[in-house]
Amino acid sequence: ARGSVKWQRVLLKVSGEALSGDGEQNIDPKVTMSIAREVADVTRLGIEVAIVVGGGNIFRGASWAGSSGLDRSSADYIGMLATHFRMSEVAEPYIRRRAIRHLEKGRVVIFAAGTGNPFFTTDTAAALRCAEINAEVVLKATNVDGVYDEDPRNNPEARLLDSLTYQEVTSRDLSVMDMTAITLCQENNIPVVVFNLGKPGNIAKAIKGERVGTLIGG
Ligand code: UDP
Repeated sequence: ARGSVKWQRVLLKVSGEALSGDGEQNIDPKVTMSIAREVADVTRLGIEVAIVVGGGNIFRGASWAGSSGLDRSSADYIGMLATHFRMSEVAEPYIRRRAIRHLEKGRVVIFAAGTGNPFFTTDTAAALRCAEINAEVVLKATNVDGVYDEDPRNNPEARLLDSLTYQEVTSRDLSVMDMTAITLCQENNIPVVVFNLGKPGNIAKAIKGERVGTLIGG
């Protein structure tokens, strides 16, 4: 089946906000289970899937620092607690070659705790891990349909873009993912697909390389 799909190994970034769904809980069990099911289904096609989970649904360091006066590093260390800092009781430490081995065996690998550094985000973690494990694409699952030419919250006429270049993202300051993450992808020729996780079937589509959301590339 592998011949019929576009990617062999992908990095799926699930934003914290998307995980929380419409529910009152920080992590919505229905959303989480449907992600798990869609991911499990595509791994049966032979596609290797690594996941980076965001934590913005629980705590976002930059905005906290901005509104509390807390310094950014401290705020980011708190933010990393939201992304499940290192916990030897529940997860093994990140060892690159071991992670790759898990993927080769068809297991889904979840990279927790971001990059482990303040001043970064889980998007940066996604770009970094993607490059490290030689995954071919970052699939950024969010709760919007993709990248718009303007902020759709301010302008109802904003248009959803099919594709755009890294250059356009940085020069037009489109809030897709943070600049460190986008330039890391650019330097390593890693395309980024931004898509809506809320639509059933979208995760599977994105992983299989079918057209969905916005494609960012060279
Ligand atoms: N964070 C960090 N370093 C990292 C990853 C995350 O300091 O490498 C902190 C940062 O404060 C961030 C928070 O963890 O705001 C939650 O992650 P993020 O905002 O990326 O979550 P998402 O937007 O994906 O929900």
